[in-house]
Amino acid sequence: DPGPENVVEMFRRHAAARPDAPQIRYFGATLDRAGTDRLSDAFAAGLERRGVGAGDRVAVALQNTPACVLAVLAVWKLGGTVVPVNPMYKARELAHLLADSGARVLVAHPSARAEVAALPAGGAPEHVLYSRGGAFAGDLGGPWPQEPDDVLAILDEGGVPRAPVSPRPGDAALLSYTSGTTGPAKGAINTHRNLAYQVAACRAWIGLDERDSVLTIAPLFHITGLAMHLALGLGAGLPLVLTHRFDAATTAALVEHHRPTFTIGSITAFIALLNEPAARDRDLSSLTKVLSGGAPVPAATVRAFADAFGTYVHNAYGLTETTSAAVAVPLGRTAPVDEASGALAIGVPLPSVHVEIRDERGEPLPPGEIGELAITGPQVAAGYWRNPGQTRASFPDGVLLTGDVGFMDTAGWVYLVDRKKDMIVAAGYKIWPREVEDVLYEHPDVREAAVIGVPDPYRGETVHAHVSLRPGATVTAEELRAFCRERLAVYKAPARVRIEEELPKSVSGKILRRALREEPPT
Ligand code: ATP
Repeated sequence: DPGPENVVEMFRRHAAARPDAPQIRYFGATLDRAGTDRLSDAFAAGLERRGVGAGDRVAVALQNTPACVLAVLAVWKLGGTVVPVNPMYKARELAHLLADSGARVLVAHPSARAEVAALPAGGAPEHVLYSRGGAFAGDLGGPWPQEPDDVLAILDEGGVPRAPVSPRPGDAALLSYTSGTTGPAKGAINTHRNLAYQVAACRAWIGLDERDSVLTIAPLFHITGLAMHLALGLGAGLPLVLTHRFDAATTAALVEHHRPTFTIGSITAFIALLNEPAARDRDLSSLTKVLSGGAPVPAATVRAFADAFGTYVHNAYGLTETTSAAVAVPLGRTAPVDEASGALAIGVPLPSVHVEIRDERGEPLPPGEIGELAITGPQVAAGYWRNPGQTRASFPDGVLLTGDVGFMDTAGWVYLVDRKKDMIVAAGYKIWPREVEDVLYEHPDVREAAVIGVPDPYRGETVHAHVSLRPGATVTAEELRAFCRERLAVYKAPARVRIEEELPKSVSGKILRRALREEPPT
């Protein structure tokens, strides 16, 4: 039991024990634990001067860079809450997260300037700090050499916060925004307790010690990157090998150079490594502890990866609401395949996680029977930020109803067979049809819109839209795609828009996405 500890205290203990051990590796540069402590103190002091204190929210929209790690640690050192934001977000998406969370400060890359400028009046936080991402010698610089770097300036000022805080277990460490079938995105509250337990569980489960290091292939603006890279690295005293953003050739070169041992990412990243000739020639043999989470893992990809790189990719399953992985294949084990469905097991529950399969009435089902996965344990989020209705619906009595459908076998392996929810998983990103449909409906020519995921060998699924138009409308499919791209992060915009006379509907008039999915492709 990690008790009242939190990732900040865990990090401080490691920093006191071995201040010169590496903590952050960024291309050619390394920052040790003492440097990470000192620079995050300086960042915390700078945030404090801008009015940030315990309980305040700070939005962080950065790629996997030193500035991102320092920003998150700095906010936690003040007892504040980090709101991770996808740096690809457009003004429309950003506006909702900033307004709903009430973030005081936004830390973003200079490329976000145009979107910040396009926020509705009064929609920008009090302070926007731009960071090119690096924070010490070896800074990539990027294609924005003329841009001032507010974060570097703050770090240069130095200092320590006047009112440092040791976060309490129930304090919100993260507000992780996730969308859903209904309503706008809501902030899942990942507490310090959630993170401390996740760090302890992963350390034991994966068998990590001071010889290990973490390759950050999952984005640090998502729960997996934050919990299973950033919090794990800081809390378990493991160096973080930062990638800026995932690119197969660069990542493979970084692995050969820094020899990280552990990573977790989406299966798309592993497929990209397999398909990149510049990666195939690299020595990835240091990566012995590899997990793939967030999307179905094809058994054939696991085999191909093992053949190419000598590493077995372990399936992991989790949600934002379980602070990333909740079920995973134990290291060194091979997941069984269900004979009837051909499904690869997602694993067995992590330490302290309890999984139950429930029927429609919420009653537990015996092994072999198919129902909804319901999850309890100290990694389960404390609900949704200022949203008691959705919290009651998704967490009745503190039990998380996942919306995923599966079964458990007699040996305790868990299998997924379906989703109750309409979510699309494309290249590891989650897309909620309703959000894309809302944007399509904003176009004056659109009468009806339905967005679906269609199978794609590389991305898992890809986004397609079916629309019908108002009488006399002249908009083209290409124009509708462009309309979406201007208003949504690029991965959410439909790869294809099909204009139809009429969309399939139920007797009550509800558009049937399922019927569209079952249509033969043309
Ligand atoms: P994580 O990587 O832990 O899943 P995430 O941010 O991708 O984090 P969410 O956006 O909350 O998580 O999406 C969770 C959903 O992703 C699950 O409810 C499930 O439908 C799907 N999912 C997660 N892991 C797997 C897996 N191993 N196989 C199939 N689907 C998965």
